[in-house]
Amino acid sequence: MIKLALHWQILIGMVLGIAFGFLVAGTDWGPDFVRDWIKPIGTIFINLLKLIAIPLIIASLLKGISDLKDISKFSAIGGRTILIYICTTVIAVSIGLLVVNIIQPGDSVSQETLAELTNAYSEEGSMRVEKALSQKTKGPLQFIVDMVPQNIFGAASNNGNMLQVIFFTIFFGIALLLIDPEKSAPVKAFFDGFNDIILKMVDLIMIIAPYAVFALLASLIIDTQNPDLFKALSYYALSVVIGLICMIGFYLLVMAFYVKKSPLWFIKGISPAQLLAFSTSSSAATLPVTMERVEEHLGVEKEVTSFVCPVGATINMDGTSLYQAIAAVFIAQALAFDLTFADQLTIIMTATLASIGSAAVPGAGMIMLVIVLEAIGLPAEKLAIGLALIFAVDRPLDMCRTVVNVTGDATVAMIVGKSVGKLGDPNVKNWDDNYEMVK
Ligand code: ASP
Repeated sequence: MIKLALHWQILIGMVLGIAFGFLVAGTDWGPDFVRDWIKPIGTIFINLLKLIAIPLIIASLLKGISDLKDISKFSAIGGRTILIYICTTVIAVSIGLLVVNIIQPGDSVSQETLAELTNAYSEEGSMRVEKALSQKTKGPLQFIVDMVPQNIFGAASNNGNMLQVIFFTIFFGIALLLIDPEKSAPVKAFFDGFNDIILKMVDLIMIIAPYAVFALLASLIIDTQNPDLFKALSYYALSVVIGLICMIGFYLLVMAFYVKKSPLWFIKGISPAQLLAFSTSSSAATLPVTMERVEEHLGVEKEVTSFVCPVGATINMDGTSLYQAIAAVFIAQALAFDLTFADQLTIIMTATLASIGSAAVPGAGMIMLVIVLEAIGLPAEKLAIGLALIFAVDRPLDMCRTVVNVTGDATVAMIVGKSVGKLGDPNVKNWDDNYEMVK
């Protein structure tokens, strides 16, 4: 029997899910049926991916660091990764600014649409402003303080604390490298086996991926209200999508000219992670798949993947920063708030920082957008209106920007892998083989 590759299975699940959602949305029984009987499959799948995220980070980081044998290699990878992450984010924001200044989507919003959107979504707008402001009262070094946990079990009990878990694990890994090899050997052997078990669990979870994306997208269609308002925001949405496509184009150029690998091969290798990012709107939930694809299908060695991918999922959000730049300028244009060149530079800086601070979960980018809007001096009363304005199309754009976030992490893993000589031939252990095995 011909077995379809995983990315095709997921794609078919997505298309059927969207079609099914539209088909039953208008019926009396459809929405309840989807909510009661279909949505839970998607929720279980996301829960499973989140469940595996922390054990996966611990297992693979420890395996990666202990395979390094030498501390200096680790600092070379760490420093390079953070620097490249910041560079790609600044490039993303700049592309966003370029696109939004050319298309000027804010000018196409009429006063009536503005009033209609503000009425419909003002509550959500104010809620997000409140959330963002509660984050903002912290000092400039707070994010470093937040990285150091007081209690590892407390940190590991919340997926939002991924950076704290990474901190502890790296600390543990470094100490592991520094002790007597005879003593560290059993610990290494334990984590080797632990790592294999976790990877197998990811394989098993992925078996339900095509059904889960069907469920996720069908329920998303059912829960989407007011599709008419989408049209009013079409220029804005188009600008974000064009910007995101340019960013993907940039990654492919890097792939062809720096990494010297075929862009098509790269897309094929990473596509299941991209499709999941699209369906879940969460880079954190997609992380287990991103890591497995980068390592086994794109050939980046574990020492690099295990550090670059988890850190990237939490701090590198090129899609989010690009979106924040476009959204900020769009809101300013629509509300007739003039932006100077200095304001645009402020956007580059704050969108870079705000995307680093955004959690890798659905909708986080929009909450952190408040920080960008405040930095350019948008008055408080306009903030909520601004967010209300873009709320209607935020979910679809979130899905698209999460794809770019995940692709960015994979690209940087390839760049770092290439630059430290850790890019080998992929060890293609197929999902389909596992599938056959489990059957
Ligand atoms: N959903 C995005 C992510 O998880 C973050 C955002 O832009 O809202 O990568």
